[in-house]
Amino acid sequence: MLKVDSIKKGIVIDHITAGMGYEIFTELKLDEVEYTTALIRNVSSRKYGKKDLIKIDNVVDLDLDMLGLLDPNITLVIIEGEKVVDKIKLSLPNEVKGILNCKNPRCVSTIEHIDDITFYLANEENREYRCEYCDAPYYPKRK
Ligand SMILES: [Zn+2]
Repeated sequence: MLKVDSIKKGIVIDHITAGMGYEIFTELKLDEVEYTTALIRNVSSRKYGKKDLIKIDNVVDLDLDMLGLLDPNITLVIIEGEKVVDKIKLSLPNEVKGILNCKNPRCVSTIEHIDDITFYLANEENREYRCEYCDAPYYPKRK
């Protein structure tokens, strides 16, 4: 059993789908920071079989929309004074702004180089998002 007691104040990104940990670790640029971080892969979990886990020994602002988009199974565990003070269960965001780019070459957002596009969740089961300008579907990558 993995313990969080080595973190005095920080965040554990728990219940990452096994195999997604490295991608999330690099997406959060945790490979570039100075404080202590740990990526732990293929942890046995009674509930999920195997999972990945990231420990961050620092107080950081995480983009929950981006994280939820990458892996909606994630639970964030907030640590303070070596104790768990909060748990946040992520889910697929209903809409995301400025994270995804439209892949339709004829979309007005592509032609006019608009960055802050909003994509709306159209189908949760298929993880399908749609562009606010042209309605083109977008499937965020997943395992
Ligand atoms: Zn579009």
